[in-house]
Amino acid sequence: MRAIEAIKSGSHLLRESKVESHILDSELLLAKILKKSREEILINLDQSLTASEILTFNKFLNRRSKKEPIAYILKEKEFWSKNFFLNNDTLIPRPETELLVEYLLKLYNKKQITILDIGTGSGCIILSILSELKNSTGVAVDISSKALKAAKKNAYNFKVLERVKFYNKSFEAIFNKKFDLIVSNPPYIERKDLKNLSCDIKKFEPLVALDGGNDGLDLIKKVIYKSKYIIKRFGTLALEIGNGQYRKVSKILTDNNFKIKNIIKDNKNNVRCVIAIYGS
Ligand code: GLN
Repeated sequence: MRAIEAIKSGSHLLRESKVESHILDSELLLAKILKKSREEILINLDQSLTASEILTFNKFLNRRSKKEPIAYILKEKEFWSKNFFLNNDTLIPRPETELLVEYLLKLYNKKQITILDIGTGSGCIILSILSELKNSTGVAVDISSKALKAAKKNAYNFKVLERVKFYNKSFEAIFNKKFDLIVSNPPYIERKDLKNLSCDIKKFEPLVALDGGNDGLDLIKKVIYKSKYIIKRFGTLALEIGNGQYRKVSKILTDNNFKIKNIIKDNKNNVRCVIAIYGS
């Protein structure tokens, strides 16, 4: 079988399963198997596939037809122009989170800081920041050891491994350290809303990275309470939050001696991130 036939039959199969991006996905899955870029595949459509490549392609198509996100099948997702390795214990990095990274990099332009990332997952936030702030160091925590493995692998790939420490424990167990910047994209979905998430999220993304408890604010509150003790005076706490949580989160922040410095909205005008300064 040649690449062109594989892509066509793959896309046909995915279309039957109502996968909207069926052509692109078929191309991406094949590119992964042939260890080439999609563009390289498309200019060499006559290349033939071995039996084992066809077998793997069919396995991938089968997973995709069951709506498994392509990022989990490819085990990677582009974020802040870098390819992040993923596994089943990491959330797929989202474009909204890039807004946070963009903001923080402008704020700390070339400065030397210490960063804590709470619930680092694939490490997308802290590693993107550290790879640009070359003199900065950080700590990444996650309760999932499997997620931390992915984050470590990413740190190695992006050449920042020597500037970041990884702890496989709850952030509540961090003492005797003070950070300039604490970032977190904590689980913030209200428990009763979890069942309304789309199938690809509900069935494939790690629940513990999504479930924010009864009001969705369990982890956000814990992060704010704890941050007071491990943030430097005038340090920054940057949180990603869920839709409609801004009012409550800003009250919790101000009640805890944080001052809101800025908010970041998505393209639908929802507040997605809150940036607060401690002790002002
Ligand atoms: N920090 C990671 C991300 O932004 C993981 C977040 C999480 O697991 N809630 O993707």
